[in-house]
Amino acid sequence: MNQANTTFSGLNRQTDINQLQSETFDLLIIGGGVTGAGIALDAASRGLKTALIEKSDFASGTSSKSTKLIHGGLRYLKQLEIGLVRETGTERAIVHGLAPHLAIPEKMLLPIIKGGTFGKLTATIAIKVYDFLAGVTRDDRMKVATAADALKREPLLDKALLKAGIFYTEYRTDDARLTIELIKKAKTYSALPLNYCEAKQFIYENEELVGVECYDGLDGQHFSIKAKKIVSATGPWVDGLRKIDQSLTGKRLHHTKGVHLVFDHKKLPLEHSIYFDVPDGRMIFAIPRGRITYVGTTDTNYHQSLDQVTATSDDVTYLLKAVNHAFPSINLQPEDVESSWAGLRPLIHQDGKSASELSRKDEIFEAPSGLISIAGGKLTGYRKMAERVVDLVVQQLGIQDDGTKTDKISLTEKPFQDFKSVLAYQKRLEEQLSNLGLTAYHAWYLTTTYGQSADLIIERLPTSSDTPEIALARAELWYGVHHEMVTQLTDFFIRRTGQLYFDIHNIKRVQTAIIKDMQTYFQWSEQTIKKQQALLSKRIDEATIFTENEITDKQWTEQSA
Ligand code: FAD
Repeated sequence: MNQANTTFSGLNRQTDINQLQSETFDLLIIGGGVTGAGIALDAASRGLKTALIEKSDFASGTSSKSTKLIHGGLRYLKQLEIGLVRETGTERAIVHGLAPHLAIPEKMLLPIIKGGTFGKLTATIAIKVYDFLAGVTRDDRMKVATAADALKREPLLDKALLKAGIFYTEYRTDDARLTIELIKKAKTYSALPLNYCEAKQFIYENEELVGVECYDGLDGQHFSIKAKKIVSATGPWVDGLRKIDQSLTGKRLHHTKGVHLVFDHKKLPLEHSIYFDVPDGRMIFAIPRGRITYVGTTDTNYHQSLDQVTATSDDVTYLLKAVNHAFPSINLQPEDVESSWAGLRPLIHQDGKSASELSRKDEIFEAPSGLISIAGGKLTGYRKMAERVVDLVVQQLGIQDDGTKTDKISLTEKPFQDFKSVLAYQKRLEEQLSNLGLTAYHAWYLTTTYGQSADLIIERLPTSSDTPEIALARAELWYGVHHEMVTQLTDFFIRRTGQLYFDIHNIKRVQTAIIKDMQTYFQWSEQTIKKQQALLSKRIDEATIFTENEITDKQWTEQSA
């Protein structure tokens, strides 16, 4: 019997590839977003021999481009999606319990304004129902504030329009970190996840799916993986794989794009996350987070490349107009946008419904070949989606089991007891880091990014002549390479540390040292360094330079006619 391979290191890829080629798995998952990661943990913790392949980096699809809320979705109540609100509402509390540092209670403010989506009475009733459906505990239940009170707490709101304010609770997360923690946890149950490995073709025996031909994008190897069941959790790419399987019939995906813009917190200094009205009848969020405040999202039909989704000048104009309307004194300009991200919702098409009206419910497709695909859904509901898929897999494999255990599996190695212990830990880090020239911001950042694994990073802080920021980044890189499968500059700066979005200026300060360390870890040639730098610059440009506007629905219909 093979020894369990539980090391999750970027230096260990060839061992992982050898193992993927040599064994037959109970389950192979294609797609390393939050859905695939959740399925991997559920399956592996039920004892299934599980593999997962991701064509780019883990969480590089929609799962690093969301609004980053673990939420019940107040707006779905407006669409009377009671079941969805109840399930995601209950899941919020479970995910918070599994990783209190990654699902952080966040007081949200819903301003009630003249002519807005919600009147005071409807909002009060809606949020009461919302709190009830989500089983919200007493401390976190909604509170209604007068306009004067709401203004005292958020003075940037429009005094002329404000009628009242409702404070309620949601949870803030980091979607990419949540995905990585799920994958790391699945690995401790002997799952075998590999990034930069693309499913190119399916392998059949007697018309039944038995494996996948893959391509390793890092060193150009082609190899095959055998499995008894194959699940495609490829989000926006689900229909592409159904097409390869020749099973793209019936319901199809409808891609809508969502953009978020990032501003320095000093330019949009909010205390609370605010869910505010846009003049066109939609509602969007402004969410303060450490050094920045981000604003989003848009929701527009999307018809272009799934592999290169960026914000356009129209998206920027729309969001700036919306935010300047809600907070009239701030007057934000395009040059104030520090960074941005754009992601695709893999929704299920419904005839005659607009982007914002489409249901966010997930859906499972079963193909005659045996391929199972899952799409739709929300980050918040990843655990229930995984449970439904793995229930189906074990049933088809003829395995009797006791069902999912993931509501009890903490997501980090050294889990926090509760949110109070998160705050106590952060306080302890503040004291510890101040001796090393780092600030309270870094204590908050390390706690909410790595949980108590931050101890491993702090132990590694080099005591060289580096600046404190460089020393910290180098210690984080060591952790990322040895514990989180970092192999590319972009893995580190985008998905593991979130710096491209939340601290873009730091990239300039630390990148030379990071490149040097990566060169040592991976023996990069000068040519590889150039390629890595070029890719990072491309990603920075995509986040900061806004493209021409996209194909409209009308142009798309004309082109496809
Ligand atoms: P993805 O994250 O896209 O993962 C699919 C993966 O499959 C990708 O990484 C891709 O590279 C990989 N892949 C594709 N083809 C192949 C192949 N051939 N071989 C190998 N790998 C392949 N939900 C919430 O709960 N809260 C929110 O606040 C929220 N906000 C959102 C805001 C926006 C703008 C958007 C777009 C979505 C939001 N959502 C939110 C929804 C949530 O983000 C998504 O439901 C979720 O991230 C989808 O995850 P996924 O794993 O299904 O897809």
